[in-house]
Amino acid sequence: MSDSILKIAGLKVSYGGIKAVKGLDLEVNRGELVTLIGANGAGKTTTLKAITGTLPACKVEGSISYLGKPLAGMQSHQLVQQKLAMVPEGRGVFTRMTIHENLLMGAYTRNDKADIERDIEKWFGVFPRLKERSTQLAGTLSGGEQQMLAMARALMCHPTLLLLDEPSMGLAPIMVEKIFEVIRDVSKQGITMLLVEQNARLALQAAHRAYVMDSGVVTMTGDARAMLDDPRVQAAYLGE
Ligand code: ATP
Repeated sequence: MSDSILKIAGLKVSYGGIKAVKGLDLEVNRGELVTLIGANGAGKTTTLKAITGTLPACKVEGSISYLGKPLAGMQSHQLVQQKLAMVPEGRGVFTRMTIHENLLMGAYTRNDKADIERDIEKWFGVFPRLKERSTQLAGTLSGGEQQMLAMARALMCHPTLLLLDEPSMGLAPIMVEKIFEVIRDVSKQGITMLLVEQNARLALQAAHRAYVMDSGVVTMTGDARAMLDDPRVQAAYLGE
């Protein structure tokens, strides 16, 4: 039997009169990289915000459970304690802190100092650009470097589930390739991820399973590789 990490059932979110999510079911199992793709305004970010409880005042229905327990009402710091980490759109690194200090902040729920430094070295192995710049202020990093730092920082809490919101947003193509290389690498290490992306091709190439969202509903779900070959996905999301 699959080991369910995240289960969303019948999620509906309305902002005033706008129905952004209209009854979404989604599941992420242990070790999976699941991607949620779709056009602008499909409701992807709203879905992630519903998971992390960071939606503005709006109407939310349905259930979201994490490791078998409901997530409703959980605060951000409690989520990190529960090892549910999120890399938000726009990244949110601490700009006035160095790379090293940002990584320490990511480990604030832990007190195993030697282990933390070992982890930092481990992630520096995955993100060599960060190692070269470990004493540099995060605010002076390029967009791609900040994205890598935000990911490395989230990984420092040893997440059971990592949520990634549009990691390729606003990055140069070469940096996008690099970020996806890292996502695949992190996935190979067994970390469970839910990846929201507009770059459908790269997301489908990296993921195990995918959900396609359009105007607040899931229109397709299944094996990510198979979706790459699906003419409907090719026409609507892969520009073919
Ligand atoms: P994108 O890829 O462009 O970020 P998305 O799939 O993440 O799109 P959402 O950001 O979830 O889509 O938006 C879904 C719908 O909800 C859109 O129509 C958007 O305009 C609306 N929406 C999002 N946030 C708010 C808000 N705070 N108030 C009102 N409407 C909102």
